Amino acid sequence: AAKESGKNQYKIFHTDMEATSKHRLMVQNDLRSAIKQGEIQLYYQPQVNVRSHEVYGCEVLVRWRHPKHGLLAPDLFIPHAEESGLVPLIDYYVIEGACRQAKEWLDEGLDLVVSVNLSGLHFRDRKVVDALRRALDITGLPPNYLGVELTEAVLISDSELAIQVVGEIKDLGIKISLDDFGVGYSSLNYLRTLPFDVVKLDKSFISGILTSPQDQRLTEGIMNLAASLQLDVVAEGVESSEQADYLQGINCYLLQGYFFLPPRPKAEFESWLASWQPPSTPKRNLIFPFG
Ligand code: C2E
Ligand code: MG
Ligand code: MG
Ligand code: MG
Repeated sequence: AAKESGKNQYKIFHTDMEATSKHRLMVQNDLRSAIKQGEIQLYYQPQVNVRSHEVYGCEVLVRWRHPKHGLLAPDLFIPHAEESGLVPLIDYYVIEGACRQAKEWLDEGLDLVVSVNLSGLHFRDRKVVDALRRALDITGLPPNYLGVELTEAVLISDSELAIQVVGEIKDLGIKISLDDFGVGYSSLNYLRTLPFDVVKLDKSFISGILTSPQDQRLTEGIMNLAASLQLDVVAEGVESSEQADYLQGINCYLLQGYFFLPPRPKAEFESWLASWQPPSTPKRNLIFPFG
């Protein structure tokens, strides 16, 4: 029976492998033409400063408007793009689009820090530094209006090189955020070794922040840590005014999430910007004795 089931397992495995590699080939071909056809689209989600009531900036989140499969979220195609070596193609496209957009907004008097997500795979060589430099050059965007969001996957392959590459990005004058902070393995060590400006508190903390004392303590601990390292904190995944109030109460005032706006195409993001009304009176003012 063991032999039998082993055989079956092999069969299933084999069929899976076949399907996967076919699928992979299909995605690869599709992705190349998708970029040419303009199917890769940039969505924008605001990052709001609830203390100054200004929109600090936005995160660019990529979408694939697939002719057959509809609107695809990045989790459905970025992993394939990473496997097949196509992720630079997408990320460079996003970087250039983001710089062009940020420059356009800047020229209209909107100073927004526009942040892009970079795959950890870029940190195996220096090409991404050239891509960032080139995008700033051709668009004329001052580097302090561009941000990059990295996860700790950056350091998986070759830490020495990755640390150098991150340093070179920093030297360009680009803001660097550590994404998904708090869910990884040794993020504390990364905070010491890499020149981050911002940590992004992972949305898994925010979802527990009103109900779980443990998430509350962890979040407050991260706030203290960030303060002592002079890092800004952006909370991601803020979905309610109660969460926003709580976060502001622990001095976390850069917020992002569906409560403000889900990621949206340029036109919708711009109309949200135009109608953005800061709340009239901050509710938790009294608990900030030091301003
Ligand atoms: P991330 O950078 O951590 O992005 C945050 C994710 O949370 C986004 O998912 C966003 O749509 C979602 N989100 C925002 N606000 C809320 C909220 O209030 N509640 C909940 N439940 N979710 C919220 P999305 O757009 O599906 O992106 C998933 C991941 O794909 C990103 O995680 C990022 O790692 C990656 N990604 C996105 N764009 C790019 C890109 O251009 N290049 C690369 N390499 N990766 C990208
Ligand atoms: Mg991100
Ligand atoms: Mg994140
Ligand atoms: Mg993520």
